[in-house]
Parts: sequence; C-alpha cells; structure tokens
Amino acid sequence: MAAYSPQEVSFSPTTPPNPQYRIFGTRGNRPLGTLMHLFLTLHPHSLKIPSNFATTTIMEPHSRGQQSREEKVEKMPLHTEDIRPEMKEDIHDPSYQDEEGPPPKLEYVWRNIFLMALLHLGALYGITLVPSSKVYTWLFGLLYNIVAALGITAGAHRLWSHRTYKARLPMRLFLIVANTMAFQNDVYEWARDHRVHHKFSETHADPHDSRRGFFFSHVGWLLVRKHPAVKEKGRKLDMSDLKADKLVMFQRRYYKPAVVLICIVLPTLVPWYFWGETFQHSLCIATFLRYAIILNFTWLVNSAAHLYGYRPYDRNIGARENVLVSVASLGEGFHNYHHTFPYDYSASEYRWHISFTTFFIDCMAALGLAYDRKRVSKAAVLAKIKRTGDGSHKSD
Ligand SMILES: [Zn+2]
Ligand SMILES: [Zn+2]
Repeated sequence: MAAYSPQEVSFSPTTPPNPQYRIFGTRGNRPLGTLMHLFLTLHPHSLKIPSNFATTTIMEPHSRGQQSREEKVEKMPLHTEDIRPEMKEDIHDPSYQDEEGPPPKLEYVWRNIFLMALLHLGALYGITLVPSSKVYTWLFGLLYNIVAALGITAGAHRLWSHRTYKARLPMRLFLIVANTMAFQNDVYEWARDHRVHHKFSETHADPHDSRRGFFFSHVGWLLVRKHPAVKEKGRKLDMSDLKADKLVMFQRRYYKPAVVLICIVLPTLVPWYFWGETFQHSLCIATFLRYAIILNFTWLVNSAAHLYGYRPYDRNIGARENVLVSVASLGEGFHNYHHTFPYDYSASEYRWHISFTTFFIDCMAALGLAYDRKRVSKAAVLAKIKRTGDGSHKSD
C-alpha cells in the first residue's frame, strides 16, 4: 500500500483553484458558530475581519449529493497543491528501513531517572496535600498549565516544528515564554526531535518509537541515551529556519536559568507570597504536581495516540485518533490525521472540536497576530480516507 506522499494534497480540476475564505469552521464548532452568527445578525458592523483572518483552504465545490461527491473523489487526479512549500522536514519518509542486527544496548541517563523519580514522588505527595490547599493554589496551577500547554501545542508544535501558520512578534513572544513555562526542552531541540519523529515514525530513528511499548514512548525515551539512528537522522535534518529565528535561538541560549526561574522558582513563590499558601503546599502542588501533569498529558500524544484508537485517514501508519488524548492535550489527539497531514494548522479534520489550541490560534488571527493558517481541503481529506483509511470514518 502506498504510503503518504505530499502529492496527495490535491484538488479536483472542477474546483477553481482560488482560495476561498472561511471564517467559522464547519463540523465540530457549531454552537460557537451559531452564537457568532446571532451576534453578527444583531451587530452587523461590529466585527471587522482583518484581511489576514482567513485560512488558505482550497474548498471543494458545492456537492450535488453524496453520490456525485464520491464519484468526484474516486476520479480525482493527484494534482500537487503545495500548501506549505517552505518546509518538508516533517513529511514521512517511507523509504527508510531499520538496519538489521541486534538493537544497541540501553544506556541509562541516571540524572534524568533520578530527577523524574523525584518529580513524580513530589507530585504524588502533592495529591495528598490537595484537600488541605487553598483553592487559589490549584486554580493558579491549572491556569499556569493551560498557558504552558499553549507554548507547546500552538508554539513548539504547530508553529515552530510544522510551520502550519505564521505569527507576529507579540504572539511569538507570548509563545516562547509559555513554552519555557512548560520545560520540555527548548523549542529548537523539541522541534528537531519532533520532525525526526514524523519523518521516521515507528523506526529506530523515531526518538519515541511506539513499537518499543507504552512506557518507552511515554517517558522511557527521556531516561536513556538516544538510539544512534535518531542522532544521525536528527543531525541531517534541515533546521535552518529555526537557526535563523532569533527568538528561538535566544531561548536556547538562556534556557537553563530561564526554566529554573519560570517553571520551578516562580510557581513555588507565587502561592506562598500572594495568598499565604504554605511553602510545602506551594512546592508540591503548584510546582511538582502541576509540572508532572503537563508532562504526562503531553507524553500521551507519543504513547496512547500511537497505540490506541482508529486510523481513519491512513491505516498504514502508527498514529491514531484518540479523543481522550485530545482532551488532555488541548486538541493534539487527532493524531492519525496529524501524521497524515502534518501541515494542517488545526492538527485535525475539525477546528474547534476538542481543540482549544485551534480556538486560540483563531482568536489570535482575529486580532491580527496569527495569519497564513494552512488547511487541507475537504476533497483531499476525503480522497485520502477513501484510499488509505481503515473504514472507521463516518463518511465511509
Ligand atoms: Zn506533529
Ligand atoms: Zn506522533
């Protein structure tokens, strides 16, 4: 079975290749869309849409019924519609094969094992302290994690690893600070690991190869030295876009003191100083427990979303659709779609459906801070479902 190739992002010759602008999505965000429609009916001049608040989606023509649409999809030729010409390093390379021979010996990184064990013990103790904590402390932890998660999902992932949209300086500044709050390696390293994960998924060159089991793809990969193939392929990746990004390089240079300050010291001091939380509660809930939660929720994308769920877009790859992971990761669990179409800014066939990240990017676009959001056409998605899906999609 043919694996994914970028040529499959296509449109029908009957579709005029004009980008049409769609403001509020289709499936998945209907209540919000209806509310907004009502608002615009009552205040028709209240919302000025900036010219950049538009996605560059190629829309399929109006369907004359399910049957004709299916015929169209069947006959669709593979025209190239390159929606993201500037980046190809996250496109799956099916030609890569693991080398024969025994796997290399595991080399443990004892410092990481010790720190991870300490963090999780502190977090477990934090759970026992929750009933005696002040409500502001865990509200603060929750808010801190939502902001930090956006630094990963909207920042390191969709902006910097995949270049699925562009962001103006104020948004990039927010994302780099939020990303540092999350403490998941600097953006450059995160993006390099992530691009190599997409390009060589489920091979030795995949840093969190899910064939090695749940524990390895969840956290184990951070506790051992990287497989030589990961290092070799990582070195060969084109990372010139991020090397040229002054903000990303600035974060990389000052990463260690920055994360100690804003992922550990600051969240410990704020509850203690501002609302008189005990130091022990501050440290174990607002820092240890909060940080352990965001780490584990993010890791689920690499473990659970590569092991459990349907594969409606491409049954030949490891990544799967997992709703629970989407809930935990602000919309990153539509993982079969995401690995099939890594250049789609919504990382899902839908938009605001269980995806706070897409909602956030759209809000930023409404403010003029995000633009050029890449979106795969419905026709291309349907063609892919028909060709390589596992039959679980509701259109089947
Ligand atoms: Zn990705
Ligand atoms: Zn993945």
